Amino acid sequence: MKTIGLIGGMSWESTAHYYRVINQETAARLGGLHSAPLIVHSVDFAPVAELQAKGEWEAAGNQLATIARALQDAGAEVIGLATNTMHIVADQITAAIEIPFVHIADPTSDALLADGFETVGLLGTRFTMEMPFYHDRLAQRGLASIIPEVDRTNLNGIIYEELCRGIVREESRRIYVTAIERLAARGAEAVILGCTEITMLIDDSVSPLPVYDTTDLHAKALVNAALV
Ligand code: GLU
Repeated sequence: MKTIGLIGGMSWESTAHYYRVINQETAARLGGLHSAPLIVHSVDFAPVAELQAKGEWEAAGNQLATIARALQDAGAEVIGLATNTMHIVADQITAAIEIPFVHIADPTSDALLADGFETVGLLGTRFTMEMPFYHDRLAQRGLASIIPEVDRTNLNGIIYEELCRGIVREESRRIYVTAIERLAARGAEAVILGCTEITMLIDDSVSPLPVYDTTDLHAKALVNAALV
């Protein structure tokens, strides 16, 4: 199995999920006491979040590209970035490395297409919902994506003020479920949890639409790539 390099911590909460899923999937695939050869570079999220808020994507991208290069130099053979939002700078990262980079939207669209969906709801940070980078990547694979018409500030705030700090509130779960109901009413056939912390709040047991959890799908795709 190849060594996986994971750029994490944009909130450490989601990186912890990645660590668990990557190792569980490796054990399921290889059996016995197998676990994943894995190098995690977990950043301090506070300065990254400041750059996000100021729209200084190039500076944030330079930082993540330097980390990706360091992971490659340390022996990583495949790289994953444990956040949807920062895939805004995916091109800067891939330009800095020679090893494969597994884009988070790709295993997500593969799973949706395999299940026959064409129009999906996309939940995530304001950046992921409102900027074109994620919609464009899905569209390249033939998927149309829609976002909530209302309450995006609230949905975004729940990610940064609660989930990234390990806080899970029932009231926030209801707000997300309502957003999914509205997406369903506007034609969404499934919903992408397009932020790696939403898995703490929403799963198939509470969602009115089939859930595609980017954290789970991306972590498993990294194991796949490492086992090729
Ligand atoms: N983890 C979140 C995402 O998947 C947002 C926080 C971050 O920027 O890492 O978009």
